[in-house]
Amino acid sequence: MIICDTHCDTLYMRALQPDHTPCVTMDAMKRGGVSLQTCTLFAGGQGVHGHPYEKAMAEYTAFEKLREREGWEAVNSPLEAEKGKVKILLSIEGGEIFQGKVERVHEFYERGIRMAALTWNNENEIAYPAKGGSKEGIKPLGWEILREMAALKMAADTSHLNEAGFWDLIDKHSQPPMASHSCAKKLCDHFRNLTDEQIRAMAGRGGWIGVNFYPAFLTGSTHATVRDIADHIDHICQLGGEKHVGFGSDFDGIECAPVDCQSPADVPAILDELRRRGYGEDAISDIAGGNFLSYYRRLGW
Ligand SMILES: [Zn+2]
Repeated sequence: MIICDTHCDTLYMRALQPDHTPCVTMDAMKRGGVSLQTCTLFAGGQGVHGHPYEKAMAEYTAFEKLREREGWEAVNSPLEAEKGKVKILLSIEGGEIFQGKVERVHEFYERGIRMAALTWNNENEIAYPAKGGSKEGIKPLGWEILREMAALKMAADTSHLNEAGFWDLIDKHSQPPMASHSCAKKLCDHFRNLTDEQIRAMAGRGGWIGVNFYPAFLTGSTHATVRDIADHIDHICQLGGEKHVGFGSDFDGIECAPVDCQSPADVPAILDELRRRGYGEDAISDIAGGNFLSYYRRLGW
């Protein structure tokens, strides 16, 4: 079985939070049987007023060190994921990293980036975040960036994006969008989570949703278990998302994790919970990683 996880902040932690200890390690990924771990280059918390490009480059340098010293390997295509091997998919979180320049999309594509979240929690040159509740859609410069991303088959990630931007992507983007680390609002009313309407639209459009493991998004508290992760997966499946859902842990970017899912090594516990609920092996294999790879096939990989 191929297990994919579509979001962690490990490179930011390694590059810019030296007093923290990452839980996404080669050993933990091997123990959990994770085949494709997405590691993001995070813009940081200051939006266009900070130094998002410089931060992203510091994180990329952290990845290069892991590649040289610990054998971390980035894929060119997500479809290179292989059972029994650990590979890394690089992404961007916060479109301010592109600095409003279409050529930056190419630059990061050349570095291996295959997915980009248009915003983090700040407004940028591309779009508006869910945080703050703006009703404005994708900005004109955002569409230029999005056209370039589509030409390069780079996934447009709606996690952190506001609803107006989300619906713009569903209705007008040439590629199906995705949400790399978001949960279901029906089960936990948080601005970062997706409404039932959004989940149905994501499935209908051929998109993809990675369920976030952050207790604040799963239960609205500091406590959660793999049962809560399975509840959100169940809910998305019930809305027609059984071929469009998987894992987007957010490890190393969250203040706490479910008590029984503290690192990539614990991901099999979620699969066991799905088995207990009567999911068959084919459905579990889809949720573990098959759905995510199918999503990239729909992007043209
Ligand atoms: Zn995030």
